[in-house]
Amino acid sequence: MTRRRKQQHKSPSVIIIGTGFGGIGMAIQLQKAGIRDITLLEKAGAVGGTWRDNTYPGAACDVQSHLYSYSFEPKHDWTRKFGTQPEILDYIESCVRKHNLEPLIRFNQAVESAEFDEQTNQWQITTGAGDTFRADVLITATGQLNRPAMPDIPGLEDFGGESFHSARWNHDINLEGKRVAVIGTGASAIQFVPEITAKAAHLDLYQRSAAWVLPKPDKTFTPLEQTLFAKLPLWDRLYRGMIYLKNEVRALAFTRFSGLLEFFANRARNEARRWVTDPDKLAELIPEYRIGCKRILISNDWYRAVNEPHVNLTTGGITRFDETGVVSETGEHRPADVIILGTGFRATEFLSPIHITGRNGVSLNEAWANGSKAFKGITVSGFPNLFMLYGPNTNLAHNSILYMLESQFRYVLSALRALSRYPGQVMDVREDRQSRYSQVVQRGLDGSVWEAGCTSWYLDEHGRNTVNWPGFTFSYRFATRFVDTADYQFLKPHSENA
Ligand code: NAP
Repeated sequence: MTRRRKQQHKSPSVIIIGTGFGGIGMAIQLQKAGIRDITLLEKAGAVGGTWRDNTYPGAACDVQSHLYSYSFEPKHDWTRKFGTQPEILDYIESCVRKHNLEPLIRFNQAVESAEFDEQTNQWQITTGAGDTFRADVLITATGQLNRPAMPDIPGLEDFGGESFHSARWNHDINLEGKRVAVIGTGASAIQFVPEITAKAAHLDLYQRSAAWVLPKPDKTFTPLEQTLFAKLPLWDRLYRGMIYLKNEVRALAFTRFSGLLEFFANRARNEARRWVTDPDKLAELIPEYRIGCKRILISNDWYRAVNEPHVNLTTGGITRFDETGVVSETGEHRPADVIILGTGFRATEFLSPIHITGRNGVSLNEAWANGSKAFKGITVSGFPNLFMLYGPNTNLAHNSILYMLESQFRYVLSALRALSRYPGQVMDVREDRQSRYSQVVQRGLDGSVWEAGCTSWYLDEHGRNTVNWPGFTFSYRFATRFVDTADYQFLKPHSENA
């Protein structure tokens, strides 16, 4: 083996796709582990992932900031308990600056394809800019909420006014005095609707399913509290730990004892009754499905906003859009100047639209024809040295996704250590291990509240929950604490076998 190749195996070249929380955190951890050849490919012109894209008014996180941040990069001066989009984006940017990651990022490089080259044991990545990159290790950090879902309602192209998706908010459009139609009443809509209600002359909300909405226990931190967090890092840690434990307990309610959630359903009903005076609206705003089946939302001003007299709630389906507005199932036409799509994301289409090809020319689409699955949510059989962050069955309804991401960072670092013991080889998870793991996860989801019969973005087109993790986050941390090399086969490049 030449000296050059030995060096290459000591420290692999790594490409990370995406610069949201996953990509940035992974890059920081790789740097700390002494990996130098890191490239981050970012489709946009700036970092931040979903926190860069979702700039709609009122955009905020429903997980507490002290926990919705890296454990290895604590921020002591959060201005409020639940961070807002500008502050969270600023936090991500500050991590990039502090760790001098910018020189590693190639902006405006939307990855179109990634192909595993069995001759060289490397990944070849091609971007829309026409560039190609090669790396020993490919890490995808594209998130689950990066592709806006456009509703399958005909006629949007005929609409003569303005329209946009909430994740692509058009800030050039002044909603003052306009008739605004909002499609969808999910996590994003309940945040931006209260912000635009005062501006719009009339607001038509098109609700397909009502959401369970609880009060948001938000607060601003006083300068004294911020100083205490900064001066007493132990207190900051303890505070974070307390939030973690409080959130973690809820896993039981989602996965095993959904009856416990009834307490919260009553709170939500009471909150709706407190604010909504119109009995027809009130009846429509209380969901019929079991609480928790779709994501539970938190807001202090949603019900108040819907109760406004100039806010109309339409609950039947939408037949089509036309040049001047929205036609509902009943045939009623309601005029609009602006249509805002709060219709969510294509969360179950992991890694789409990147065309990923693994061993023997098999594409990820083919491998996942019967639904996405990945060993520990991270590796997929037939796709060596490919590591996914926030992959299948790693989403949470009860706690911070950052905790899951940090578990995945550790697992990837453990994988790279394992690889260093097999110079020149790649690791490919064994099919039987992956299948067994996937069965265990699906069994864990049996009886969870997500299977209570509602439609949600947790379920793929086969009705299989490919999104959520079925338990405690610490059990995921335990499952991913290190790579067991017995789960993998290590493969030499074909060029060496010849
Ligand atoms: P969402 O919660 O999936 O809501 C989409 C809404 O659009 C739902 O009300 C859905 O109705 C409706 N809809 C979809 N297609 C429709 C159609 N053809 N006709 C009528 N209505 C339609 O999406 P989101 O609000 O963008 O949020 C997605 C996820 O992003 C959240 O669950 C959450 O994880 C994340 N998010 C998080 C935060 C945060 O604070 N951390 C904030 C915003 C978003 P149905 O319910 O009937 O499908």
